[in-house]
Amino acid sequence: MRSRYTAFVLRDEKHILASWHPKSRPKNLNFDDFPVTWLGLAIHRVEQGGPGDVLGTVEFTSTYVENGVLCALREVSSFVREDGLWFYLRGDCQVDRRKVERNAHCPCGSGKKFKRCCLLTTRPG
Ligand SMILES: [Zn+2]
Repeated sequence: MRSRYTAFVLRDEKHILASWHPKSRPKNLNFDDFPVTWLGLAIHRVEQGGPGDVLGTVEFTSTYVENGVLCALREVSSFVREDGLWFYLRGDCQVDRRKVERNAHCPCGSGKKFKRCCLLTTRPG
């Protein structure tokens, strides 16, 4: 789960797709369409997912800036274990979007103004 988050941050498409269950796996991920700056991951709840389980559930919130908007994605992800490996099956998510003032401190914690930091790097074109 955490390794998937890291893979998203690093845009490691190979790892993300490899850990996706074949039943629900997309053909590819269009990272270039989504200029995103990841800010953090908070795990709220883990159910099952232990050595003796075949199913696991993780509820988490990941925060990021996309296209100049601060987003908090809350998701309940389902994982299934096959041949000793965990695969991401599906997720139910909702995204909270909040506009950040151009002159406010950037939510990434850089100490810079938003317009000089993640607003610049997450604007397409
Ligand atoms: Zn920033």
